Amino acid sequence: MKKRAVFSLLMCACSQAFGSLSSAEQQAVDYIDAHHSQAVTLLEKSVNINSGTMNFEGVKKTGQMLLPEFEALGFTASMTDGSSYGRAGHLVAKKSGTGPKILLIGHLDTVFEPDSPFQSFEATREGWAKGPGIADMKGGNIIILQTLRALHAAGELENMSIQVVMTGDEESSGRPLSKSKAELIEAAKWADVALGFENGDGDPATANTSRRGAMGWTLTVKGTPSHSSQVFQPEIGAGAIYEVSRILHTFYTQLRDEKLLTFNPGKIVGGTQISHLEKQNKATTFGKDNVVAESALVTGDIRALSIDQVNRVKQKMRDIVSQNLPKTSASIEFAEGYPPLAPTAANAKLLSLYSQASLMLGLGEVTAIDPRNAGAADVAFTAEHVKMALDGLGMGGTAGHTVNEEGDLSTLRSQAKRAALLMYRLHHDGLPSTDN
Ligand SMILES: [Zn+2]
Repeated sequence: MKKRAVFSLLMCACSQAFGSLSSAEQQAVDYIDAHHSQAVTLLEKSVNINSGTMNFEGVKKTGQMLLPEFEALGFTASMTDGSSYGRAGHLVAKKSGTGPKILLIGHLDTVFEPDSPFQSFEATREGWAKGPGIADMKGGNIIILQTLRALHAAGELENMSIQVVMTGDEESSGRPLSKSKAELIEAAKWADVALGFENGDGDPATANTSRRGAMGWTLTVKGTPSHSSQVFQPEIGAGAIYEVSRILHTFYTQLRDEKLLTFNPGKIVGGTQISHLEKQNKATTFGKDNVVAESALVTGDIRALSIDQVNRVKQKMRDIVSQNLPKTSASIEFAEGYPPLAPTAANAKLLSLYSQASLMLGLGEVTAIDPRNAGAADVAFTAEHVKMALDGLGMGGTAGHTVNEEGDLSTLRSQAKRAALLMYRLHHDGLPSTDN
């Protein structure tokens, strides 16, 4: 108890060190407090529209419901057409102004399709509610809107340069990614700062300054078929199964020490005749113990922290694959993947600004999530193009992607306040410098 008292005194001293809120900031905060129930009502309405990724009508409806809200704040807003990549499309809202250009990222879709038993908003314990996509991330979308409304009420929004992209296919991206992510990437090229309102790890005391990227790979190996009695003879060689074993073992010995890299073979077949049904994640094989294997196939993934690491690891894997055992050949192909959000000094600086804003509001410090525990997300597509990015600024909650998903409604308030202060300060003070 005593320790706690000392700690809270320190916290007080700490937040005072950052000064007090400007009158515009106070107005924004007051707006958010005064309009909390309005935010909850809009969230309930949004959650009650099924917007499983493949329910295009529902995804569009979820976006369309928000369009007039953005228009009322002076944005030009519309739903784009996703037919060229087999999805519903995205919500894009823009307004021009001065100062740093800020991109706010949400998504309209959820993992709960119309056949899921989980379809509606339901208040649970005090201040909490269950619902499909409530925290991941319809709550985040509402936080974006509340943040902008608060800045508008404080007379600040009018001068700011902002784009909002809420994708319709975050949970299951349309392909090719070059088409499905085009609008997000275009907005990122325009922006200086990207702020993602995903629910992160569900704990508002943390945010993502980095996320690992992910991509799949397919390894195909050929051997020289023959009676097993002839294996290792110069004209027959080792066969496909020995070769595939060599490759996987060498991946294991040479790559497993790479920091924050994981690579995992998830499926393997080998024998005389193999087939691969990629979409069903199935493979079959026929082979006999007395025949040297003719073919083998492995599929797997790589998760890495930076584009440099991805490129370096791909090259290493290609080199390993090319050092074939006698009379075998092998090739590896890498699929289109999610890029990483690398942990840059600029992202860390942005987090420290956000954390300072949080301390000022009496909401405590915000720290970075270990990238090992952060999956790929839309914000990563902006990483190459913006000066700094931060994700996980959305709703607090638990059990995302399950029928027990629950959101902490009080975080609609706290997260909007933190974001409003961060944006206000970016607008007035400019981007933080990162040369120290
Ligand atoms: Zn999400």
